[in-house]
Amino acid sequence: MEEKRESGPVENSKLSDLISKIGDVELEESKDLTKYSTMRLVAIGDLITVKSLAALKQLLPKLKDNKINYRVIGWGANQLLPKTSVIPYLMLNFPFEKSYLDEVRNEYILPASVSLSVLSSHAVKNGLKGWEVFTGIPASLGGAIFMNAGTNLGEICNIVNEVYLIDSKGHERTVIVDKNSFSYRKNHFLDEGDVITGAKLTHHGQSPDITTQIKEYLALRNRTQPLKESTCGCIFKNDKKSNKVCPAGMFIDIIGMKGFTNKRIQISPKHANFMVNTGGANFEDICETIAIVQKELKLQYGVDFETEVKLN
Ligand SMILES: Cc1cc2nc3c(=O)[nH]c(=O)nc-3n(C[C@H](O)[C@H](O)[C@H](O)COP(=O)(O)OP(=O)(O)OC[C@H]3O[C@@H](n4cnc5c(N)ncnc54)[C@H](O)[C@@H]3O)c2cc1C
Repeated sequence: MEEKRESGPVENSKLSDLISKIGDVELEESKDLTKYSTMRLVAIGDLITVKSLAALKQLLPKLKDNKINYRVIGWGANQLLPKTSVIPYLMLNFPFEKSYLDEVRNEYILPASVSLSVLSSHAVKNGLKGWEVFTGIPASLGGAIFMNAGTNLGEICNIVNEVYLIDSKGHERTVIVDKNSFSYRKNHFLDEGDVITGAKLTHHGQSPDITTQIKEYLALRNRTQPLKESTCGCIFKNDKKSNKVCPAGMFIDIIGMKGFTNKRIQISPKHANFMVNTGGANFEDICETIAIVQKELKLQYGVDFETEVKLN
C-alpha cells in the first residue's frame, strides 16, 4: 500500500505568510501530531487551528489560490496519519457555550468541533430519542457527519436536519438533509475542500428508556471493544451483500487472525476488526497489516473488504 502523504518537507514559509494576516488562526509547523489521532501513530505535520467561522472563510480561498491542499482533522478517530504529512491539517476549535445544553430544545444548532461525548451526556440526562445512535463513538460532530457515524442503534444521519459548510472558495452553503444525503459510513454532499462548520440536529422526543439504553450500550461496548487501547475503531467496513450484513470482525476471527501481530500492530484479541498500536507504530506498520488481512480475507472468502478508516 502506497503512503501518499509522506514524500518530503512541508512548504510552510508560504503557509505562515498567508496565515499571519488572518486573526483567529494559529499555525504550528512540523508539530508532533502523534496525540492528534486515537491510533497514536507517530506523525509530524503542520497544524492549522481555526477558531472562528470568519477566519475559516478567509483562510480557505487563500489556501486554494496558493494551491495548498489541506485535510480536516476532528478527533482523528478515523484517520491514519502519515509519519510526515506534506499537506497541513486543519482543526476547528469554534466557540461553544456548554450552557446551550442546559435545556432541551426541539432543534440544536451546533458547531462542528463539538464533541459527541458532550452531546451524549445531554442525551443521557434528558433521554433524547434518536441520540442513542452515536453512543460511545469518539468524534467531533463534523467528523461524525462526514462519516455518517453509527452503531447497531442507528446512524447519525437519522437526527441531522441541516449541515453547514464552507467550500474552498470561502462560500457558505447549507445542505438540507434528505434520504439521499447519506449512506453507510458516507456522506453524498461534500466536495473536495469543503469543511463542515456546524449542523442542525433534532430528536424524536424524550423517554427514560433512552437513558437506560445508552448506559447499557456503553457497558456492552466496554466489554466487547478494546476501548483502553490506541485504536481507530473498526478498520474494515462490514460487507453488505444481498442485504445481509457480513461483519468483517467475524470473518477475521474465523480465519484465526485475532491476536495476530505484525510490526507494532496487533489485531485486538477482544474484537477482530480493531487494530491496536502496541507502542510507537507508524502509518507503514498499519497499512502493511491491513494489506495482510485483506489478502487473507480475499484468499479465504473471495471478499474484498473495504477500509472504513481513512488512509489518505
Ligand atoms: C474506540 C473507537 C470506537 C469507534 N466506534 C465507532 C462506531 O461505533 N461507529 C462509527 O461509525 N465509528 C466509530 N469509530 C470511528 C470514529 O470514531 C468515527 O468515524 C468518527 O466519526 C470520526 O470522527 P472524528 O471527529 O475523529 O473525525 P476524523 O477521524 O478526524 O476524520 C474523519 C474524516 O472526516 C473528515 N472530517 C472531519 N471533520 C470534518 C469537517 N469538519 N469537515 C469536513 N471533513 C471533516 C476528515 O478529513 C476525515 O476524512 C470509533 C473509533 C474509535 C477510536
